[in-house]
Amino acid sequence: MNKKVVFPIILTTVLVCTMIPAVGWAENSSLEKINQEIAQIRARMSEQKKNISSLEQQISAIQVQQKELEDQLLYIDMRRNETQNKLDKLDGQIEVTKGEAVKAQQQLDEAVERVAKRDVLLKTRLRAMYEHGTVSYLEVLLGSTDFSDFLNRFHALQTIFEQDKRILEENIRDKETIEAKKKEVDEHLAKLETMFAEAEKLKADLDSQYKQSVAIKAELKEKEEDLHDSLVQFEENLLAMARQEKAKLAEKIRMQGGSVIASGGKLGLPLPPGSFTFTSGFGMRTDPFTGKSAGHNGLDMAAPKGTPIYAAEKGVVILAGLYRGYGNAVIIQHDETYSTLYAHIREGGIQVKVGQVVQRGEKIAEVGSTGRSTGNHLHFTVYKNDVAIDPAPLIR
Ligand SMILES: [Zn+2]
Repeated sequence: MNKKVVFPIILTTVLVCTMIPAVGWAENSSLEKINQEIAQIRARMSEQKKNISSLEQQISAIQVQQKELEDQLLYIDMRRNETQNKLDKLDGQIEVTKGEAVKAQQQLDEAVERVAKRDVLLKTRLRAMYEHGTVSYLEVLLGSTDFSDFLNRFHALQTIFEQDKRILEENIRDKETIEAKKKEVDEHLAKLETMFAEAEKLKADLDSQYKQSVAIKAELKEKEEDLHDSLVQFEENLLAMARQEKAKLAEKIRMQGGSVIASGGKLGLPLPPGSFTFTSGFGMRTDPFTGKSAGHNGLDMAAPKGTPIYAAEKGVVILAGLYRGYGNAVIIQHDETYSTLYAHIREGGIQVKVGQVVQRGEKIAEVGSTGRSTGNHLHFTVYKNDVAIDPAPLIR
């Protein structure tokens, strides 16, 4: 970067030495050269500003993406919790249903056993009746005293057999009911287990989505940090360029005889003597807009609209136009250290252009009340290394 600047300087020196030009020509040529250099620096600065705003846009886009991911993560996490709750609930239901299944199995086993026992009993009775039955029957029947007694006894035997048969049938029905219930419980359990498996799969999917989003978010964060590092670098470069610009401006002023402030000289009055009154000094004061105590970074000098404003010292105009709350304003750079601001200039009252060299006492503008102002006045600030200082001791 420095080589570029050094080369033209050497070239100019050589030209000046060998061609022995008229002094005026040399001055004009150097002035032209420095103007070119300033223009180059400004072009680089505007390029850099474009880069900076592009970076800032990229950073805010990434921040938006990160915000979206954060919302997504919150949503996924919510669904994960829901699914986990569902899993816990299903787990509980499965436990209960397994218990029911075990119980149903026990009941079924008991019912099967009852049926088997009754079956055995009946068969035994039948076999007994078959084997000894005739005898028993005969004994029972032959023991009867008369035909009526015989019929009664026969009927009683028949009743016992019928009763056994009925109990067996009841046991079988009972067993079938329990079997159906057991089947129902088993089916319910299978359904719950399917639901559990599905929820488990969903949970695994959500976990993997969550992990993925976290990874993307980390990537974005890293990218944002890289961009931010570049931004800081670009801003530092811009500052360095601004310092170069200031040095060139100071060089330009030195060529024109130089300013007197740095060497202890005083500033000229920015308004004609007797045309104004000081209304606010430098430092703390009551803000005319908010009524609160606030810092005031310059002097306020009330004067009628249109009163001429003078350059307080020789310098280069570095700003001529709207400047935030200052309304229409002019800033003059006097050397590498000092600059002055003239604010609230009336509409159309600016009479200088950026880059113009102005002499001490030269009319640059006219008093007005543009910007954050309650009446016609000049707000005058002196900057030393870009920090406002009290102008009072510096004014002649
Ligand atoms: Zn002010």
